[in-house]
Amino acid sequence: YGDGFSWIRGSMLGKGSFGSVYLATIKKSRSKQSYFPSAMAVKSAEVSVSGSIQKEREIFSNIQGCPDIIECFGEETTMGDNGVMAYNLLLEYGSGGTLATRIKKSNGKGLPEFEAKVYTRSLLRGLNHIHQIGYVHCDMKPDNILLVPNYGRNAITEFKTKIADFGLAKRAKTSKKRKLEAYWRGTPMYLSPEAVRDRVQKAPCDVWALGCIVLEMLTGKPVWDKGLKVEEILRKISSDKECPKIPNELSKEAKDFLKRCFMRRPMYRMTCEMLLSHPFLQGLENDDH
Ligand code: ADP
Repeated sequence: YGDGFSWIRGSMLGKGSFGSVYLATIKKSRSKQSYFPSAMAVKSAEVSVSGSIQKEREIFSNIQGCPDIIECFGEETTMGDNGVMAYNLLLEYGSGGTLATRIKKSNGKGLPEFEAKVYTRSLLRGLNHIHQIGYVHCDMKPDNILLVPNYGRNAITEFKTKIADFGLAKRAKTSKKRKLEAYWRGTPMYLSPEAVRDRVQKAPCDVWALGCIVLEMLTGKPVWDKGLKVEEILRKISSDKECPKIPNELSKEAKDFLKRCFMRRPMYRMTCEMLLSHPFLQGLENDDH
């Protein structure tokens, strides 16, 4: 890496659809104290399937510089153990795991409202940054949100969130439609009505997905019943008669916030910038980045 860095692969953190993610120890070749702690992750994929990882890298480099998005420190091509060329991305390490595991730990009760608010504000700031420079994330879900320790002086939560996984991200301008199956990975749970019905994915799609994430943080349960089959979830999303259920016991501000994320017509949905000044997020102390 640029300044004489190399890395040693540690244990596997997770398997992605195109490769694996490992913990890494970084070796600084010209420094006396040459190893520094394993604070990074490496996402590896064989070069033959690296098309999407390369696109991810390109998008990553364009959106760097936002504290609410996972940092990408570099990229390289190496010879893998099996003699196959591998393409690696060196990433900031999400030592707190994913938001999905954090929600699971709440045992179906959901996170305390203040914690959900802190994460929501950070997610909106990250998304706003992505949208401002002309991209759409297209795969916002708790599995793709990493937690890192919050060392800020005014921190009110132990962790803070960082948006990760730009594997499905795209330029907002492109109007190329993909096959319906290409619109999600793993689960269609967070897809917006216009993505399912018209195969359109612009910034409002990320706002719909954010609404699903906020609802899941507050209730501990996903927006549509987890036991449903893919086709049933797609039918519910695209049907005018079905709306995400917003429980009455949530605070007035939370309910209003969610309603604005779940406007069926994308043009009526609030933008990230507007949502950042919604009453749901007021009264939070500032956190240092
Ligand atoms: P996919 O692209 O298929 O969604 P990824 O390749 O991004 O999956 O990641 C697979 C898993 O590895 C994630 O679910 C997460 O648990 C873990 N992971 C990915 N990136 C990091 C990171 N920077 N820090 C810590 N864990 C990570």
